[in-house]
Amino acid sequence: MIKLPSLPLDASAATDLSQWQVEIDSISDYETRVNEGKRLFGSRNNKRNSTFINVREVLTKMCHGHKRCGYCEDSVADEVEHIAPKDLYPEAVFSWKNYLYACGPCNGPKNNKYAVVKSIPSAQVVDVTRHRNAPVLPPIAGQPALINPRLEDPLSFLWLDIANTFVFLPMEGLSRENELRAEYTIKVLRLNHRDYLVDSRRTAFGSYRSRLREYIEEKANGADQLLLNLRQQELRNLGHRTVWLEMQRQHRLYPVLDSLFSQAPEALAW
Ligand SMILES: [Zn+2]
Repeated sequence: MIKLPSLPLDASAATDLSQWQVEIDSISDYETRVNEGKRLFGSRNNKRNSTFINVREVLTKMCHGHKRCGYCEDSVADEVEHIAPKDLYPEAVFSWKNYLYACGPCNGPKNNKYAVVKSIPSAQVVDVTRHRNAPVLPPIAGQPALINPRLEDPLSFLWLDIANTFVFLPMEGLSRENELRAEYTIKVLRLNHRDYLVDSRRTAFGSYRSRLREYIEEKANGADQLLLNLRQQELRNLGHRTVWLEMQRQHRLYPVLDSLFSQAPEALAW
């Protein structure tokens, strides 16, 4: 999971979303805000709506590689996901910063699951998911437990084991609150519990390492800068960018990677 680039909408789309949000916020009753928000989002989020055409264009640009999911980085993503669910947070139903492209396998299990972290009396995750037939009441306030890749750098919370298991772990040295957020994010998105994700990260590691070796060999053989730039671009287009960012971050821990990056220190900035 990587932090997504911050890209703006067209001015007219941004204005539309703000106005639609004001329309929802002006409704005094919470349950009516939830229902109207969902209804209006459903009717406007379609392929003929010029605002959502632009939303989808910009979300596509934000994805790394070929429209990969903002959570798992693996599958094609074409669902406009509310990071904070619209069922719980009508105040963010038309909020641009609350949108991300997520794939079905991430969006399905996450669905409306959501939790907040409370610090008092001690740090704990409080599930605020609204279950079927439960009264429609606002969730308790608190820091969202889910790491938000639109606003936060997931790699400040998560550490990918690139030595062996290719599973995510909470970073060492986090506050208890942030450790809970990391654990919750890994669990609710099933980042370690889908074997194909773990396998894809392992495969990506091999691909990045091979591409880097190829680049180093060609550089040593005097390849011209155009070809080297092409190799750099090819490497940057590989999937599971988290794996590459972790290879950069952790290279000193592994002699093979340390040796490769010492021969191409410029790759630490790719
Ligand atoms: Zn996904």
